[in-house]
Amino acid sequence: MRHAVVVGAGIGGLTAAAALRQQGWAVTVLERAASIEPVGAGLAMAPNALRALDVIGVGDQVRKLAAFQGSGGIRTKTGKWLSRTSAEAAQERYGDPTVLLHRAVLVDLLAAQAPEIELNTTVESVTPDGVVTTAKGELSADLVVAADGLRSRIRGQLFPSLPGPVYTGVTSWRLITPTAGAQPSESWGDGQVFGVMPLAGDQVYAYATAPAPPGGSSPDELGDLKRLFAGWHDPIPAVLDRTDPAKVIRTDIFSLETAPPAFHSGRVALLGDAAHAMTPNLGQGACQAIEDAVTLAYTNDLESYSAARMPRTAPIVKRSRAIARITSWRNPVATAARNTMISLVGRLGTTAALRQMDSVFAWEPPVRP
Ligand SMILES: Cc1cc2nc3c(=O)[nH]c(=O)nc-3n(C[C@H](O)[C@H](O)[C@H](O)COP(=O)(O)OP(=O)(O)OC[C@H]3O[C@@H](n4cnc5c(N)ncnc54)[C@H](O)[C@@H]3O)c2cc1C
Repeated sequence: MRHAVVVGAGIGGLTAAAALRQQGWAVTVLERAASIEPVGAGLAMAPNALRALDVIGVGDQVRKLAAFQGSGGIRTKTGKWLSRTSAEAAQERYGDPTVLLHRAVLVDLLAAQAPEIELNTTVESVTPDGVVTTAKGELSADLVVAADGLRSRIRGQLFPSLPGPVYTGVTSWRLITPTAGAQPSESWGDGQVFGVMPLAGDQVYAYATAPAPPGGSSPDELGDLKRLFAGWHDPIPAVLDRTDPAKVIRTDIFSLETAPPAFHSGRVALLGDAAHAMTPNLGQGACQAIEDAVTLAYTNDLESYSAARMPRTAPIVKRSRAIARITSWRNPVATAARNTMISLVGRLGTTAALRQMDSVFAWEPPVRP
């Protein structure tokens, strides 16, 4: 039996483990953390990711446990709608709308499909011929899946001259809070963004971004958020007022601006953030990791994997970064011009807005589920 070692039990690694196992591989998953509890935040799963999850048989469970992203769109900080989206229009166009769920829900579903995970196991090195070294010893594999995230050690070992991820100048905050009935929206100010997305079970997932020096943290992240977003439209202040300060997660935003020359080397495949870390502005980082995983399990060789995934992910990394740039503009004249442009496109209707996402959402998996 062919043996695959998956390094990292994030969303990418777990999906790869499940997909490879279903394709008849013996799979070992190595994870450096002591548990696979993900950060307490929400996650948008777009139609392309749901199609990939159908291949491994968990798409319908995700649909059942998620909240559908109803009518929403982009707003100004005063609440004026600049463009609208509609879940019905997305469903008609792509077969599914984007859905929202707790990260832990997806991780639990994926972990149930994957083999047992070897926790507390840090991979120290991987060679192109498939030798994986940990503190516990060496493993030899036919395939090594490097799903070790943004700061991938394996990417650095395979491609030592590749520049690392670049800080975008923007930090993010994520939180989940009990608030029923919020309408999904993302509001853009002069450098800041605040998103409100309903989750199943009368909860709301909120996220915010703002320019900040790298590596910053505050003893009162919630207080800082309240100050940054004071005076923004409803329900933003109410969401923040109902938030437990201990539940605010702060993460600096990085982007892998220079793609690796290939997503594989010898027997090793790079996958997810290890291959193409992107800013979260299109909500596609984990969606692309899931696409990678399913593609990897259904391609015959790693050249074909790189050939399929590099041209797919490069424009999404670029587009996410471009949105990150325009949302971090601080000059009110520039942001007013930006808002006018968005609202002009928005006036063309939800279909025109959706059409811009065709290249991302209309992806088809290598096999029909
Ligand atoms: C604010 C924010 C919001 C986002 N929102 C969305 C969204 O709505 N939708 C979406 O699709 N994406 C979103 N993303 C992106 C998404 O979170 C990532 O793209 C995705 O989680 C990457 O998954 P991964 O499995 O590649 O990497 P990770 O989740 O980083 O997993 C890597 C794993 O490898 C382990 N590891 C690392 N090194 C080693 C080692 N040497 N040995 C063993 N184990 C190791 C780590 O402990 C970790 O468990 C968002 C990101 C941010 C920052």
